[in-house]
Amino acid sequence: MTEALLQLEHVFQSYGAGVRRFTAVENVNLNLSVGEFVALLGPSGCGKSTLLRIIAGLQKATQGKVLYRGQQLEGVNPHTSIIFQTFALFPWLTVLENVSLALKAKGVEKHERDKKAEDLLDRVGLDGFESAYPRELSGGMRQKVGFARAMAVEPELLCMDEPFSALDVLSAESLRGELLELWTEGKIPTKAILMVSHNIEEAVFLADRIVVMDKEPGRIIAEHKIDLPHPRNRKSVEFQNHVDQVYAVLAGQTRPEKEELGTAPGEVGITRHLPEVEISDLAGLLENLAEGGNQKHDIYLLEDKLGITSDQLLKLTEAAELLGFSSIAKGDIELTALGQAFADASILARKEIFASCVRRIPLMRWLLSMLHSAEDRRLKIEVILTALSLDFSTEEAEKQIEVLIKWGRYGELFVYDDDQEMIELEEGR
Ligand code: ADP
Ligand code: MG
Repeated sequence: MTEALLQLEHVFQSYGAGVRRFTAVENVNLNLSVGEFVALLGPSGCGKSTLLRIIAGLQKATQGKVLYRGQQLEGVNPHTSIIFQTFALFPWLTVLENVSLALKAKGVEKHERDKKAEDLLDRVGLDGFESAYPRELSGGMRQKVGFARAMAVEPELLCMDEPFSALDVLSAESLRGELLELWTEGKIPTKAILMVSHNIEEAVFLADRIVVMDKEPGRIIAEHKIDLPHPRNRKSVEFQNHVDQVYAVLAGQTRPEKEELGTAPGEVGITRHLPEVEISDLAGLLENLAEGGNQKHDIYLLEDKLGITSDQLLKLTEAAELLGFSSIAKGDIELTALGQAFADASILARKEIFASCVRRIPLMRWLLSMLHSAEDRRLKIEVILTALSLDFSTEEAEKQIEVLIKWGRYGELFVYDDDQEMIELEEGR
C-alpha cells in the first residue's frame, strides 16, 4: 500500500480581476505518495510554478482542496521546501553561514548547526568551500549551496522549480547525479520530490512518474510512469522509448511516427530529407507563433508577417513539424506544447529541447549511431557522404550533411572539425 503524502483535489487558480481575470490552473488532481519522485513537464505559463506555490502553502488556491498527510493545508506548509532556478544566497555570508542560517530558523543551536551544515556541504560535493563567499563560486556551485540549504531543513516534500536549467550542461549533469544518489540511497530524510522541468530526458532520467501539462488553461493532459531502475542508462532502448512516448504527448502526435518521420538510410521506406533551414529562422517562426498565446495561424498570412518567400516558409513549417514543434491542418499551423516550450525557453534550454527533438529524426539517429560505432567516435564527412549517396543524389547528400551538421552542432550533439572535415560526438552523447 502506498502512503499518500500530498493530494490536490480539483484545484483551480484564477488571476487578475474584472475583464482581465483568467484561469491559470484548471481542475488539477494530483497525488504524491511517500517514496515518489514526480516530474512536472509543460510549456511556460501552464501553471507549474503556481502549483508549487500552492503546494508549499505560499498561496491559497482559488478553489479546490490541498491535503497534506490527509489534513487540509492551512497557510505555509512546514514540511516542504522549494529550490528555485537560481538561488538567492546572502552575499555577505559565507557558504557555511548561508546553509547554517536555514537551521537557525528551526531553533538548532550554533555548534550543531555548523556541524550539520558542514556535513550537508560535504554531501553535495562542496567540501573545502565552507568559508568561501557566494561571489567566489561558479553558478553550479552556488546552486549546490542552494540544494544544501533546502535540504538543511530536512523537508519531507522537496519541491524544485527547474533547478538545473540555469546551469551549464556539465554542472547540471553532475548535480543531477548527486541529487539522485542522495535520494535513492536514502541519505536525506526527504519522503517525496516534485520537480518542474522543461527537459524530457532529465525527467525520464530522474522521475518515477511524469505529469504532463498544457496551457490555456493550465491543466494536466497526461501521466506517464517510468519503472526503470536507477542509475538509468540514457542510451538504452527502454530509456529512449520512454523519452519518445513523453515526447509524443508533448508534440501532440497521434499518428504512428514512421509515417511522419520517414525511415533511416538503408531501411525499407522513404528516407525523408531534412529541410534546409537556419535554426535562427526556425526560432523566429516559433516565437512568432507563440505571440498572443496558443492559437491557429493561417499559413499564407505568415509570409507577409515574417517577410519571407513561400518557399522559405514551406521549409520552415516542414522543419517545425518534423521536430514536433507544430502541427499543420487545413492550411493552419499551430504550436504544440513542445513548440511553446521551445519558444519560451532560454538559449541553453532551447538547445536541450532541440537536442532531444532532433535526435529522434531517423536521419540524425542513423548518423549518431554511425558515430557511436566509429573509432574515437569520429567520422570523416567523406565517409558519411558515401553512405548517404545510396539514398540521395550527391548534390542532395551534400546539402543533407550540411543541415545535419548545423542542427547537430546547435543541439550540441557533436562538434565539427573544419580542418580535418570530421565530426565527433560530444562528451556524453
Ligand atoms: P509556469 O511556471 O508553468 O511557467 P506560472 O505558474 O508561472 O506558469 O504562470 C501561469 C500563468 O499565470 C501565466 O499566464 C502567468 O502569467 C500567470 N501568473 C502567474 N502568477 C501570477 C500572478 N501572481 N498574478 C497574475 N498572473 C500570474
Ligand atoms: Mg515557472
